[in-house]
Amino acid sequence: FFFSSCTRISSFRLTSECPSGNTIVNLIHSAECSGTFHGRIAVRGLSSSSFFMTPIALHIDAAHNTSQPRLGSLPPTEVQVAVIGNGPAGIFTSYLLHGNYPYYDTSNPHPDNILHAKLSERPNVSIVHQDLLHLTEHLVYTPQAARSSNPVSLLVDTMFHPNTDADPGQLSRFSWRSEPWKGYSHAVLGKGEIGGAWAEMKNSDERTVSYAENMDLPKFTYADWWSATHITTPSDRPFRSDVAHYYQDYVHAVGIADAFHPHTEVTHVITMEEALAAGWCACGDVKDGKQCEMCAKFGYVVCGYVTQGGKAARVPFSMRAKAVVLATGIFERPKWLGGVVGEDADFVSHELKDIVSYNPACDDVTNSRQDSLVPSTANWTYPTPPASPRLSLSAASDPYLIVGSGLSAADAIIHLRAQGVPVLHIFHHPTSRNPHYSMSPLAACSRSVYPEYAALYRRMKRYATGMSRAKEDDSGYEGLVNARMVELKRAKDGRKMVTMQDEEGRVFSQAVGGVGILIGRKIDMGFLKGQAQEQILASREETNEEENNDVRMAELVHNSTISPSSRRLSLDFTISSPLRKVDPYSFRAVRPVKQRKEPRLYAIGALTGDTFVRFVLGGGLGVLWDLERWLGKSRKSRTRVVAE
Ligand SMILES: Cc1cc2nc3c(=O)[nH]c(=O)nc-3n(C[C@H](O)[C@H](O)[C@H](O)COP(=O)(O)OP(=O)(O)OC[C@H]3O[C@@H](n4cnc5c(N)ncnc54)[C@H](O)[C@@H]3O)c2cc1C
Repeated sequence: FFFSSCTRISSFRLTSECPSGNTIVNLIHSAECSGTFHGRIAVRGLSSSSFFMTPIALHIDAAHNTSQPRLGSLPPTEVQVAVIGNGPAGIFTSYLLHGNYPYYDTSNPHPDNILHAKLSERPNVSIVHQDLLHLTEHLVYTPQAARSSNPVSLLVDTMFHPNTDADPGQLSRFSWRSEPWKGYSHAVLGKGEIGGAWAEMKNSDERTVSYAENMDLPKFTYADWWSATHITTPSDRPFRSDVAHYYQDYVHAVGIADAFHPHTEVTHVITMEEALAAGWCACGDVKDGKQCEMCAKFGYVVCGYVTQGGKAARVPFSMRAKAVVLATGIFERPKWLGGVVGEDADFVSHELKDIVSYNPACDDVTNSRQDSLVPSTANWTYPTPPASPRLSLSAASDPYLIVGSGLSAADAIIHLRAQGVPVLHIFHHPTSRNPHYSMSPLAACSRSVYPEYAALYRRMKRYATGMSRAKEDDSGYEGLVNARMVELKRAKDGRKMVTMQDEEGRVFSQAVGGVGILIGRKIDMGFLKGQAQEQILASREETNEEENNDVRMAELVHNSTISPSSRRLSLDFTISSPLRKVDPYSFRAVRPVKQRKEPRLYAIGALTGDTFVRFVLGGGLGVLWDLERWLGKSRKSRTRVVAE
């Protein structure tokens, strides 16, 4: 069994019998606890491979230390595939690389008749051994193509959630066959906890933009996780913190945790050719100027460090890999305003998590979850999110200033107002003085699906059109339309002061409780060096190309609310900067024909332009499809030699 927290279990014993003839597969729970756990446990019958849940009691003696991050284990020194990034795209890729092959579930015909006909042609052949071009060519003319322009992403989405926009809740048409002996040795390296961008939202009290089923990964869905960990019914739009816990538990539930190396930052990806030419390799086995023969068989050297028990203990690692998959997402570094004096002041944050991590109501959450799961006699507590030192605010405090008009800024405002903290909000809106400013992505949020964002947008608009003024508004929210930040500094008495300029040019100062600048994030691909960088980045200068989170999130909300037919259908898989061209089926960096012998570098997930989890999964399937043609071939010939 597993725990997703840093709990160390010193001993445990079952206090009720596991039904005979069954093996315990895992205990699905995500809390630190000691004492007696009353919950449910997933067991697998010996005669069947399906899971079922049975009530069980388990006594645990746990010694835990919550102040230390979980120790990161050192990655292996050699793998076939190094996956960088442990978000949904990296997790799904690992599931596939573990030897889980997708087939068509013929017992339940797909509602897309054309797809059903194509998949029925070779029902016993895995989808990754079929012609993806043939399977997907009609999908770019379906309404879903308005949501993603990649054909493989569309295929994976429609197989997981057939017709989900018109008829949600349909069963997945994938049937999975586990053939672990065919799997690829790999390591999934991620800077933070498993879950990627979601791990960062572990303390968020906001709901997802998407519906719960669209967060699913195969074999162990969000609904499976929910029913294993809660006795209440799940809501349509889950809390982001629940999705974060789901992804962390997922890797254990489906048995792929062995490949994951959280707290592992990759600082260098170099082609082996370049490394050897420079006189070094992954294992350091260069003797008398002779090349390391072992390393020469590999495509890349991947280096970085693992954080073990705090920043002070950073242990370097180096591995050789035949192929590298970039699943590093788009939310790496926060953007700064730039040119504002004091933007680095101690009361300024550029991270949403700093603002939403403080929640005085979390004690209530603790109690309600505890009540719903375990008898009150049990010695069990839900982990309390750490309080942010920047946020010890109340309704009586100076207002908190939020800059930005995207979803992150909106989340911060909604959170602060829910705590009774007054908010000042600087945002851009097209006006007669500044007609070039674009509207906030919140404008696309419908009242019925996203009431919280729609309500905030109405407030913003009232300020933008002059219908609301601060003096008359006692709601605790004040909009500063198109205002500009000039300076941030602490006054002599320690108060946090902000100097701003309004749209008419008037300069004024205001004491604030804190400042959140939430204006987007940048992609950071500085770890790609030399040829590896040239393989995939449009130009060296674009290593740190900025990617506006607000624009991405605008797309996210927009895509989920507009009528699909109103968007352009496209046959092109146009990848947003900073990437060079990536093949739409294999997700491999594409270079001019004469240089095709390069080692394989793939880019998948949000990095290649898809924003929803339901679409970022396609890349993993494309990678396996390509690997099967490349490394899978040698596996077949090896098997033939042995057989002969
Ligand atoms: C506030 C917010 C709300 C969202 N809401 C929704 C929603 O409701 N529905 C939805 O479908 N999507 C939503 N998204 C988008 C969703 O998070 C992404 O689509 C998804 O997480 C992308 O998955 P990924 O695996 O491609 O990348 P990510 O989840 O971003 O994971 C990439 C990981 O790679 C790591 N990494 C980067 N560089 C390195 C390196 N050098 N070494 C090691 N690791 C590295 C990063 O730290 C990161 O953890 C939301 C995003 C945000 C920020």
